Amino acid sequence: MVSLSHFNSIFELTSYFNSEDKCKRVIRDSRWEKGDIICPFCGAHHCVERKDGRYRCNHCKQNFSVLVGTIFENTKISLRKWFLAMYLISCHKKGISSVQLATDIHVTQKTAWFILHKVRTLFTQDDNIVLSGVVECDEMYLGGRETNKHEAKKTKGTQGGAKTKTPVFGMTMKWKTEGVNFQTGEVTEQTHTYEVAKRVKDTKASTIIPIIRHFVAEGSTVVTDESSIYNGLDAYYNHVLVCHGEKEFTVGSFTTNGIEGFWGHFKRVIFGTYHFVSKTYLDRYIDEAVYRFNTKEQSESQRFGYMFSKAIGTCYYRDVKMSLAA
Ligand SMILES: [Zn+2]
Repeated sequence: MVSLSHFNSIFELTSYFNSEDKCKRVIRDSRWEKGDIICPFCGAHHCVERKDGRYRCNHCKQNFSVLVGTIFENTKISLRKWFLAMYLISCHKKGISSVQLATDIHVTQKTAWFILHKVRTLFTQDDNIVLSGVVECDEMYLGGRETNKHEAKKTKGTQGGAKTKTPVFGMTMKWKTEGVNFQTGEVTEQTHTYEVAKRVKDTKASTIIPIIRHFVAEGSTVVTDESSIYNGLDAYYNHVLVCHGEKEFTVGSFTTNGIEGFWGHFKRVIFGTYHFVSKTYLDRYIDEAVYRFNTKEQSESQRFGYMFSKAIGTCYYRDVKMSLAA
């Protein structure tokens, strides 16, 4: 079987997935190793293939298709278009709009929008992840300036402060690895990051501290700016303050440039590609921005391979990232 992480171009991808049957065969071989078909309803092994291409479980007597339990279940869109869409979504580092995707894979914008939202569900952040070592924390506000808004959407008595904006809270774990350049023999240090970001109802200490405590292992080093919301951290962490108000950007070897790098990326994804993000879907866009940031060291085809295995339910993105860290 071909490794799904080794397509180096759209041409290679579309040449390989040249029919619906081929797509289904690859899904089957990826889901069920060595031809042992497992019932998605009761988990019984050795289901049998029927003449019509579907499968039958001899234990619970259910019939099912290879797409049951995948994001492609019940789809009317061809699998070739789905795979191409997933590849394009992997290629565009800052995301792809539904208008662009519709043109690229030749579907209506409504269909492209649906595909994008379905694929975005694969990016859901893992709430059980534990960050440790050095973690930079910061909050930011999302939302337009009041002066640019339509009269009816303005909030009276504000200039676009925290009242009308949506706060997002981010945590960046940073660690270093050493690598050897095979040409020069030089040992170089590389910095890696892993991001967690959440929409929050406000940025009070009573909201933020519990989130940090949930995600960051006690005893870690937590780097923040001088905002008073972080005052209580000293009880659980080695709390390092970088005072931005005093134009201080490093304290010893600690900085906040990891989290600031994420905010820059986040704004480019949200404003550069989508222009407008409804509050209803904001969490999914945050998840997408986080996913793109966390996989930035991977190639397009590695990201496609990951997306594919998530789509058919055989892989978790934590595993992908943590195997890189090892
Ligand atoms: Zn069964």
